[in-house]
Amino acid sequence: MANLYIIATPIGNLGDITLRALETLKSVDLVLCEDTRVTGKLLSHYGISVPKMSYHANSKISKQDKIIDMLREGKNLALVSDAGTPAISDPGVMLIKEAKEALGEDLEVIPIPGASALVSAISVSGVPSPQFTFYGFLPHKKGRETIFKEISESKRTSVFYESPHRILKTLESLNTFLDSNKEVVVARELTKMFEEIVNGSPEEVLNYFKENEEKVRGEFVVIVG
Ligand code: SAM
Repeated sequence: MANLYIIATPIGNLGDITLRALETLKSVDLVLCEDTRVTGKLLSHYGISVPKMSYHANSKISKQDKIIDMLREGKNLALVSDAGTPAISDPGVMLIKEAKEALGEDLEVIPIPGASALVSAISVSGVPSPQFTFYGFLPHKKGRETIFKEISESKRTSVFYESPHRILKTLESLNTFLDSNKEVVVARELTKMFEEIVNGSPEEVLNYFKENEEKVRGEFVVIVG
């Protein structure tokens, strides 16, 4: 019987990791990391010494097969991404799917929950979200307009991740497609030094970032109420 632990790590502030996550990271045979250098910093901050191996979006099938073989041998593995919860707009889904198929009842996939930018942003937004649609990262070109139309017509809250390269373009599009009475929230750099939550109409939020170019940096979650 092997265990594959899916462990959430901090999204900025290194304090945001659970006791159970630290205990599990200490106990496993190997940690699969999106980037071993990023996870190495977290592990050394907590004085944890454990073998690491990279597993990321571009990992080959042969790497995945090697990992599944280790599980077959009964090894206990942990999967982490650079930040937040693995498999949420991060690598992990295919490994979990294939490992479950290959090992069936001989594998336990165990979540060690913790930080996620998605949930953190919703929790501070002040936007009622009894139901929401999460879009991950929006497509760069094809299908973008369709999604903005869908968001503008949706009765649910919409949430998506955005990069500093596209945030202004995206806020321009929201200002074009959304009714002016819709609420937009941009959660930037959550848990970090320049954390900021900006609420307003589509136009207000767009103008805020246009007028404060130094804030068009870092990591963003966008919420449309
Ligand atoms: N799996 C991660 C999670 O559970 O939060 C998300 C990984 S995804 C590759 C990275 C994106 O999440 C960033 O581009 C940004 O949109 C969002 N994000 C991650 N950390 C963030 C933070 N501290 N503040 C705001 N957004 C963040």
